[in-house]
Amino acid sequence: MSLTTEQQALLNTLLLVSQLQEQHELQWLNPALKDFKDAQNTLILNIKDIQCAAERLQRFAAYIADVFPETTESHGLIESPLQAIPSAQQALSNISAMPLPGKLWMKCDSHLPVSGSIKARGGIYEVLKHAETLAITAGLLNKNSDYRVLNTPELRDFFAQHSIIVGSTGNLGLSIGIMSAKLGFQVSVHMSADARQWKKDLLRSKGVTVVEHADDYSKAVEEGREQSIRTPRAHFIDDENSQDLFLGYSVAALRLQKQLDEHKITVDENHPLFVYLPCGVGGGPGGVAFGLKQVFGNNVHCFFAEPTQSPCMLLGMYTGLHDEICVQDIGLMNKTCADGLAVGRPSAFVGKFIEPLLSGIYTINDDNMYRLLKLLKDTEQLSLEPSALASLPGIVNLLSNGRAYLEQHNLNSKMESATHISWATGGSMVPKEEQDRYYQTAQKLA
Ligand SMILES: *Cc1c(COP(=O)(O)O)cnc(C)c1O
Repeated sequence: MSLTTEQQALLNTLLLVSQLQEQHELQWLNPALKDFKDAQNTLILNIKDIQCAAERLQRFAAYIADVFPETTESHGLIESPLQAIPSAQQALSNISAMPLPGKLWMKCDSHLPVSGSIKARGGIYEVLKHAETLAITAGLLNKNSDYRVLNTPELRDFFAQHSIIVGSTGNLGLSIGIMSAKLGFQVSVHMSADARQWKKDLLRSKGVTVVEHADDYSKAVEEGREQSIRTPRAHFIDDENSQDLFLGYSVAALRLQKQLDEHKITVDENHPLFVYLPCGVGGGPGGVAFGLKQVFGNNVHCFFAEPTQSPCMLLGMYTGLHDEICVQDIGLMNKTCADGLAVGRPSAFVGKFIEPLLSGIYTINDDNMYRLLKLLKDTEQLSLEPSALASLPGIVNLLSNGRAYLEQHNLNSKMESATHISWATGGSMVPKEEQDRYYQTAQKLA
C-alpha cells in the first residue's frame, strides 16, 4: 500500500506532518473529541459488551487460579495494582521546573500476572474466548460448567487439534503463547526483528513455535495471517483488527473503577481523571480508553503516547488516513527502543472508533524514555520496560502544552483535585541483566 498523489499533496500542506518528520516531541489535541453522550450514539460497542467480556473472564477464573498459581490470591483474575507515585511526581515537577497539582498514580500492568504486560488483558481474553467457543460447540463445556475441566487431558487433547497464530513485536506473543500452550493448543508466534531474544527463548521453553522475521511488526502480522490461511482449524489473532482483543482490554476500566473506589478516589465533574496510555497499534490503549469513557464519561480525559519514531496513530488520526498511511510514508524509520510501540501502521479500526473519545496524543523520544526509566527506578523502585515510560510525562505535557485543552473544558480551577494515571504497560518479566542495561543506557545520557 502506498499513498496516492492526492494524499501525498495533502501531506505536504500539513504543518504537524513536518514536525513529526523532524521527530520533535509534541502534543496534538484531537479536534474531533465529542461530548460523551453524542459520541456514544455513534459507537457500535457499549458498556454491555464490556460487561459480557468481564463475565467471560469470571467464568474462567477458577481455571486460571488452578493453572497460574500466582493468581490464586486474586481468585483467578489477572489484575494489577494501582499505586501512588508521589516521589516520581516530585521529581517530574523538579526537572520540568513547574508545579504539578493533583495526584499522580501508576497503573502497574507491568506487573500483571502470567505475562507481565498490558497484553495479558486482550491477548489472554481472545484465546479464552476462542477456547470457550470451540469447547461449547463440541459439547465439551457449557457456560455453567466448572471451567477447571479445561485442565484435563481430554480437553487438552481436544485443543491440540487446533492452532492459534499471531504476529507480534513480543509482548502479545508472550500472552498468546503462554495462554494457548497452557490450554494445549498448537501455537505459532511470528516475531518482528525488534523482538527481544529473552521473549523468544521463554516462549520456546513453553513449547511455542517462534517464527522469526527480519522485518518489522506489520510484516510479522502479515506472515502470521498467511500461515493461518494455509493451516486447518487455525485461529489468527489479528492485532490490527480484532474486536475481541479490544474488548479484553476494555475490562480494565471496570477493574480500575473498583480500585479507585477502594482508594477513595472520587471522579466527577469537580475531580477530573487524566489517563496516559502508551500506544502501538492502538488496541490496548484504545480498548482501555473506550472502557474508561463508558464508566466515567466526560470526567475522564484519555491521552495516548507514542515514540517520535513511530507516531502511527497520531499520523493516521491527524491526516484522517488511518491505516492507509504508515510512518515510513513520511520518512520515519520506526526504529525505537520501545518494542511494544514499534508499530508503523495503526489498527484498521481503533483510530476511527476512538476518534470522538480521545483527548489527544503526544510523542516522546527514546532518550527521554530511558531517562524516565531511571527516574522511576530511583524514586519509586519500579522497573519498567522503555515503552511503559512513555506514559510518565503525560502530566507534564498536559500542564504545559495542554493549556488550551484545560481552558476549553473548564478544568483550570479543578487541577488541584485532579487524579492522573500513568499506565505502565510492561516490564516485570524483563530479565535482570536486560533491565540493568536499560538503566546503564540512561546513566550515560544523564
Ligand atoms: C503492546 C504494548 C503497548 C501498546 O498496545 P497496542 O495495542 O499495540 O497499542 C504498550 N506498551 C507495551 C509494553 C506493549 O507491549
